[in-house]
Amino acid sequence: MMEPACIENPEHRFMHELVGPGDRFLAALVRDFIEREIKPIRREMEESTRGDFSLVEEVQRKLVGLGFQGAFLPPEYGGWNLTSALTYCVILEEFGRGEPACVAALGGGAWAFRPAVIAGNHTLLEDFGPRFTSGEPYVACFAMTEPSGGCNIENVDMQGRGIHTRAVLDGDEWVINGSKVWPTNSGIADVYCVVCNTDPSLGDEGIALIYVPVPIEGFSFGRFEDKAGFRASREGDFYFDNVRVPRAYRAAGPGEDAVLLHDNLIFARLFSAAWAVGIAQGAFEEVLAFTRDHKMAGRPLRQHTEAANILADMAIGIQVGRDAYVNAAYMFDHPETYGPRTSRYMLSRSTVAKVFCCDMAVEVTNRAMELMGFYGGDPAYHVEKYWRDNKIIQLWEGGVQLGKLDVARGYYPYDQFYENEMYEPAKGKGGKP
Ligand SMILES: Cc1cc2nc3c(=O)[nH]c(=O)nc-3n(C[C@H](O)[C@H](O)[C@H](O)COP(=O)(O)OP(=O)(O)OC[C@H]3O[C@@H](n4cnc5c(N)ncnc54)[C@H](O)[C@@H]3O)c2cc1C
Repeated sequence: MMEPACIENPEHRFMHELVGPGDRFLAALVRDFIEREIKPIRREMEESTRGDFSLVEEVQRKLVGLGFQGAFLPPEYGGWNLTSALTYCVILEEFGRGEPACVAALGGGAWAFRPAVIAGNHTLLEDFGPRFTSGEPYVACFAMTEPSGGCNIENVDMQGRGIHTRAVLDGDEWVINGSKVWPTNSGIADVYCVVCNTDPSLGDEGIALIYVPVPIEGFSFGRFEDKAGFRASREGDFYFDNVRVPRAYRAAGPGEDAVLLHDNLIFARLFSAAWAVGIAQGAFEEVLAFTRDHKMAGRPLRQHTEAANILADMAIGIQVGRDAYVNAAYMFDHPETYGPRTSRYMLSRSTVAKVFCCDMAVEVTNRAMELMGFYGGDPAYHVEKYWRDNKIIQLWEGGVQLGKLDVARGYYPYDQFYENEMYEPAKGKGGKP
């Protein structure tokens, strides 16, 4: 009998004290769905995105059937109160292992509406909640990045000054002008959470998260982006020309919205780390099977010491990465013990996980391709796809460079605009006022 590709028990990847039976049950449910519904068609699905998205949408419709779409809502709005970062991470690791991007449309609601849920904005939850639980696909988008860059908005030292999309109150309505590029679910979303600025001179107090349902007068969409990986999700550019929405569609208020923005970005660093671990896990499983079946000098490739060393390095990276995101997500979920979710330390811990896991998955997918020779670049083995998908995750959410700055912030008060007597003219001219 042929030896199994892998003898590891997925249940034992996590400390059960941190990842409880409920989370492990959801992970197993998703894994089963992915094995049945996604893995058999993932190559075909990715290739079809060059033409149309009907196969992706078919999978998304089945995903809605699992009941996750409105899970982020409080029970009084029909949800499961699924707010734990750790739970989302464990689920997204499974999607990373199978096909990371196809869940983006469904998951948009959990990310884009998280600020409204945390703020307890009943108008937003009443107006939009039922659409997420209707059983029909309802797509949301968290719209932050602008043509002038995403990191200038994510960078906490910029205090909102990188946000050029303006929102001005006119009576009981917000009037929004500006543009966004690259948000996931651009052009297909039914509702957008738009990161705006009410007045750049206010710093963090000027940051506003405002929800915009579409179609709406003054909103226009440009085109979908082409990209190396994550092809089953859609990104693009869109424009606001005097778009008017009710005043109550702002998530919370001055100062509070800045905290909600940073909270959401830290949350995204965590789930990005988990996605990357899933991708590395998927590539690892492919290469374990390949090196079992592929014989070199008469024995399975993985029975050669050099290959075993490489496979062991992969296993080390994957497990250490998983431990990093599990620990950081657990801390994020327990502010009563570990302090505010938006503290510099929490920003740092989540970014340690994101940077490490993405770097690790680049290395794992790269080495997996090396071990597989030219099959490593063959789409039939999926490893080159894992490599491309992970690269996208590494680039978003601050990229590696802003990520490193955010890691430093957890250990000393790193400040982009550190007072500098050698450079007086910087004060008040784009530097810190
Ligand atoms: C598939 C995909 C999905 C996406 N989904 C979303 C989404 O749902 N919502 C959304 O709003 N955006 C989304 N984005 C955009 C993404 O968040 C941005 O790409 C990301 O914020 C980085 O911004 P940027 O690409 O504009 O790079 P830039 O901000 O231009 O940064 C360029 C480089 O400069 C480095 N850098 C940044 N700041 C500093 C600094 N202070 N000092 C030194 N180096 C620095 C960065 O690390 C990076 O290497 C998505 C992007 C992709 C590819």
